[in-house]
Amino acid sequence: MKASFKLFRIFGITIGIHYTWIFAVIFFSWTLAAVYFPLSYPGWSTVVYWITGIIGALLIFVSVLLHEMAHSLVANARGIPVHSITLFLLGGASNMEDEPKKPAAEFAMAIVGPVTSLVLAAIFWGFSKLPADATTPLAAILSYMSLINMYIGIFNLLPGFPLDGGRVLRSIIWGSTGNLTKATDIAGLVGQIFGWIFIGLGIFLMISVSFISGLWIAFIGWFLNSSADASRKEITLRERLSHVKVRELMNPGISTISPEASVEELVRDIFRKQQGRAVPVCKDDKLNGIVTITDVKKVPQDKWSETQVISIMTVDPLYTVAPDDNLNVALVMIAKNDVNQVLIDDNGRCGGLLTRADIIRLIQMNRELGLN
Ligand SMILES: [Zn+2]
Repeated sequence: MKASFKLFRIFGITIGIHYTWIFAVIFFSWTLAAVYFPLSYPGWSTVVYWITGIIGALLIFVSVLLHEMAHSLVANARGIPVHSITLFLLGGASNMEDEPKKPAAEFAMAIVGPVTSLVLAAIFWGFSKLPADATTPLAAILSYMSLINMYIGIFNLLPGFPLDGGRVLRSIIWGSTGNLTKATDIAGLVGQIFGWIFIGLGIFLMISVSFISGLWIAFIGWFLNSSADASRKEITLRERLSHVKVRELMNPGISTISPEASVEELVRDIFRKQQGRAVPVCKDDKLNGIVTITDVKKVPQDKWSETQVISIMTVDPLYTVAPDDNLNVALVMIAKNDVNQVLIDDNGRCGGLLTRADIIRLIQMNRELGLN
């Protein structure tokens, strides 16, 4: 998840917030100031309820951040780079560059989050017993922090993927069967079931207790259900694509353009004649870079004839796959980098392009023909 605003950097990790986070802070501040604190601690003034409510809401996100930091630090230590954490409407997300390669690594990364939250819950519980008067705003916040960290810890331990508990379950099945696809499918199914339970519970609460709280829980359920469903579909797809080589989708008659060609030639000879939006730049059958319609748009039309492709092409980063790579490698590269195509580097020779559309076409054709 991409952050809308970056806050600060710690241990090499950029902490950012997604704009939806603002709604969560407002919602939690209001719930705490107007409902939770007045019911639990009667007799404060409205201003005190609101100040305590806003501090409480911000502290929820400190708790979430500490939980995510624990995941990220263990991931980094296990060789899976995490460069950023984004706080959003429903909590936090550590943006991992890769999935763990071993069940033990996934287990360690997943379990450390809830453990951190539960340890924090115990620490805040201890602190909340220190003030002599248990009805002051400070004592209220400390005991509330204990409660919220306990909720975060327990909720995330539910064994449905992609919650932490679901990752723990997946790592155990993966470790004992050696089959990541099967493990993801089972843990994802449990995740979907929990999603449905939360949706049901949320609707029940909406009708019988509190519309807003019920809606919130139903929304969490919907989010859990759909991400579990997406994870199951993605892993099944990756598994299918892992049996197909890039070579099988390579087009023998690929178009390429020379770095010395003009933008005018590029448009006339390539983009006008074929459907693609990108073309490999090659010289003497050696891969030099890639040029896309987006690059062309940056050049004013009256400069097309005097501008060479070399001055607008992308050289770095170049996303490349080899003909003998499996298609899932290409798919992950396309998805992770949010690009539409990867270049095929055939031992330094120009192998053409593999586009997102090529992969989608293959999947659709296979589905239509009933192939796997
Ligand atoms: Zn977590």
